[in-house]
Amino acid sequence: MLQENYKTVQQKIRNACNRCGREYSEVTLIVVGKTQSVEMLQKIYDLNHRDFGENKVQELMCKYEVMQKDIRWHLIGHLQQNKVKYIVDKTCLIHSIDSLRLAETISKEAGKHNRTVPVLIEVNVSDEKSKFGVKVSETLPLIETISSLPGISIQGLMSIAPYVTNPQENRPVFKKLKKLSVDIENKNINNVTMNVLSMGMTNDYEVAIEEGATIVRVGTGIFGERYYKMQQ
Ligand SMILES: *Cc1c(COP(=O)(O)O)cnc(C)c1O
Repeated sequence: MLQENYKTVQQKIRNACNRCGREYSEVTLIVVGKTQSVEMLQKIYDLNHRDFGENKVQELMCKYEVMQKDIRWHLIGHLQQNKVKYIVDKTCLIHSIDSLRLAETISKEAGKHNRTVPVLIEVNVSDEKSKFGVKVSETLPLIETISSLPGISIQGLMSIAPYVTNPQENRPVFKKLKKLSVDIENKNINNVTMNVLSMGMTNDYEVAIEEGATIVRVGTGIFGERYYKMQQ
């Protein structure tokens, strides 16, 4: 079942790329394993998949410990400053930078490990109160400030689009994030690239690809509905 779901998602990514004249290799699928067991993730790993996303530091660390070391772990959820030290050497990309203080903490911890940590800035495109992320209007100033910090390297933008019944409703959200990334790229800021656009989840990743996503984050589409054992 998992294998079929995985293949279906890959095929839909391929189809979306074809529709808009993009290469399949331009889009990275992140398999979002939150609430799923290591056994389930291992099944996807065995299909030769290496990019996995978690939204909680604790869960990422547990899975990191027991799974293969060639996995590329993406932290996609909100990150608290006091937890930065646990994951700064375990992630290939942190998708959820939304404040200068968080970036400063990452910069400091990165220094201890003598590495540069690749990150994305999380943008709250539709300005939803319930969501983390910076406002569109605050994104450029934040990036300009962070760009001068050592040990942290901005690679692009990330957004979590609203939950909608018709994925087409999110097309303007994706367009807006893409436009913002092009505008920022045109500023040619030192130490900043806009090569990565992390947008699109199970419900709307095909539309996101049509609008320029280079990373899509899919959980439910592969594992089915999530069951939360503990109170969130
Ligand atoms: C859970 C989660 C996803 C995956 O959501 P699905 O709808 O299950 O595909 C993607 N991005 C983030 C930030 C998430 O927390």
